[in-house]
Amino acid sequence: MMDTKIIRMDEENIDRKAIELAGNIIKSGGLVAFPTETVYGLGGDALNSSSSKKIYAAKGRPSDNPLIIHIVEMSALSAIVNKIPKAAYYLAEKYWPGPLTMIFEKADCVPLETTGGLDTVAVRMPSNQIAREFIREAGGYIAAPSANRSGRPSPTLAKYVIEDLSGKIDMILDGGQADIGLESTIIDLTGSSPVILRPGYITEEMLRQVIGEVEADQTILEEHSKKAPKAPGMKYKHYAPRGNLIIVEGEAGQVSAYINDKLSAFHKEGKRTGVIATDETATGYVADSVKSAGKRGQEEQAAKCLFRILREFDDEGIEIIYAEGFEQKGVGQAVMNRLLKAAGRQVVRLSGENSPI
Ligand code: AMP
Ligand code: MG
Repeated sequence: MMDTKIIRMDEENIDRKAIELAGNIIKSGGLVAFPTETVYGLGGDALNSSSSKKIYAAKGRPSDNPLIIHIVEMSALSAIVNKIPKAAYYLAEKYWPGPLTMIFEKADCVPLETTGGLDTVAVRMPSNQIAREFIREAGGYIAAPSANRSGRPSPTLAKYVIEDLSGKIDMILDGGQADIGLESTIIDLTGSSPVILRPGYITEEMLRQVIGEVEADQTILEEHSKKAPKAPGMKYKHYAPRGNLIIVEGEAGQVSAYINDKLSAFHKEGKRTGVIATDETATGYVADSVKSAGKRGQEEQAAKCLFRILREFDDEGIEIIYAEGFEQKGVGQAVMNRLLKAAGRQVVRLSGENSPI
């Protein structure tokens, strides 16, 4: 176990000494977890293969699951990719810095350890000011996956990074709660047309506005796709709470009635039960723990709190969790993508007769 230094700061009031220390840790091959606008990242020097190996080890992450390189300047992009398609300039102009990751052909200076053996590389320019000062101080190229142990929900608060990685990494920069709460949108620009590999806060519609037609990788929302997802990380079990999570979709009143029925049966069996509800429905449930993901129709709120809710159910020892489905519009698509993964794709759809179809 190593001694993990934890330093709290605000985006508006950055602790320069801590940033310098963090930068030096990276330059000497160590690991630092840091806040971004999406979720917390676990950073290492992207151009140092041994740093990337340490990231996989600290997370317990399979080594074929590539890391995203975080940069702060467009000039850094030219240094790590072979060619920059026009679409990337347009997207960067509009959405960088921000929660969008783009996939390019990698340049030779990027080690295969960082890209999980692929000849492509994922790049993002975050907007969080702590992230930006840290990346700049560390030399400009930070490889960072989410700062959780592999399989657990991505951390939206430093306390979850501490829970998962304390003693395994050199330092944690605590910048408070992550604004968005879900990982970045990933778009692949290496093929003949752009493909979304992972939905996020930057929606399909927002991408289309800038570059016209975009495809979505079919494995994103299909429940039983036989195809392998193009983002290697999307095939692994993710975010799963320890309890059994089931999503119920249908008309609001039916959904509540169905869930309450199930809850009471599980309660009789002595199981600890939980519900992911909305502000409108939360008071109508009888369970050991009922959590609202915000107002119905405001999927940004759900995005911000989903991962925290999943972790809280674990802390409370909840064994059976029912979740209301979210509408798949805007960022709701990303929320449902994560929720489906967390549920191992267990979904009940209610028909008019109040029974599953
Ligand atoms: P994380 O930062 O933990 O959200 O993980 C990074 C995500 O980006 C994983 O789902 C990876 O599979 C994906 N990714 C990173 N690099 C590539 C790449 N070169 N091609 C496709 N997907 C990638
Ligand atoms: Mg992750």
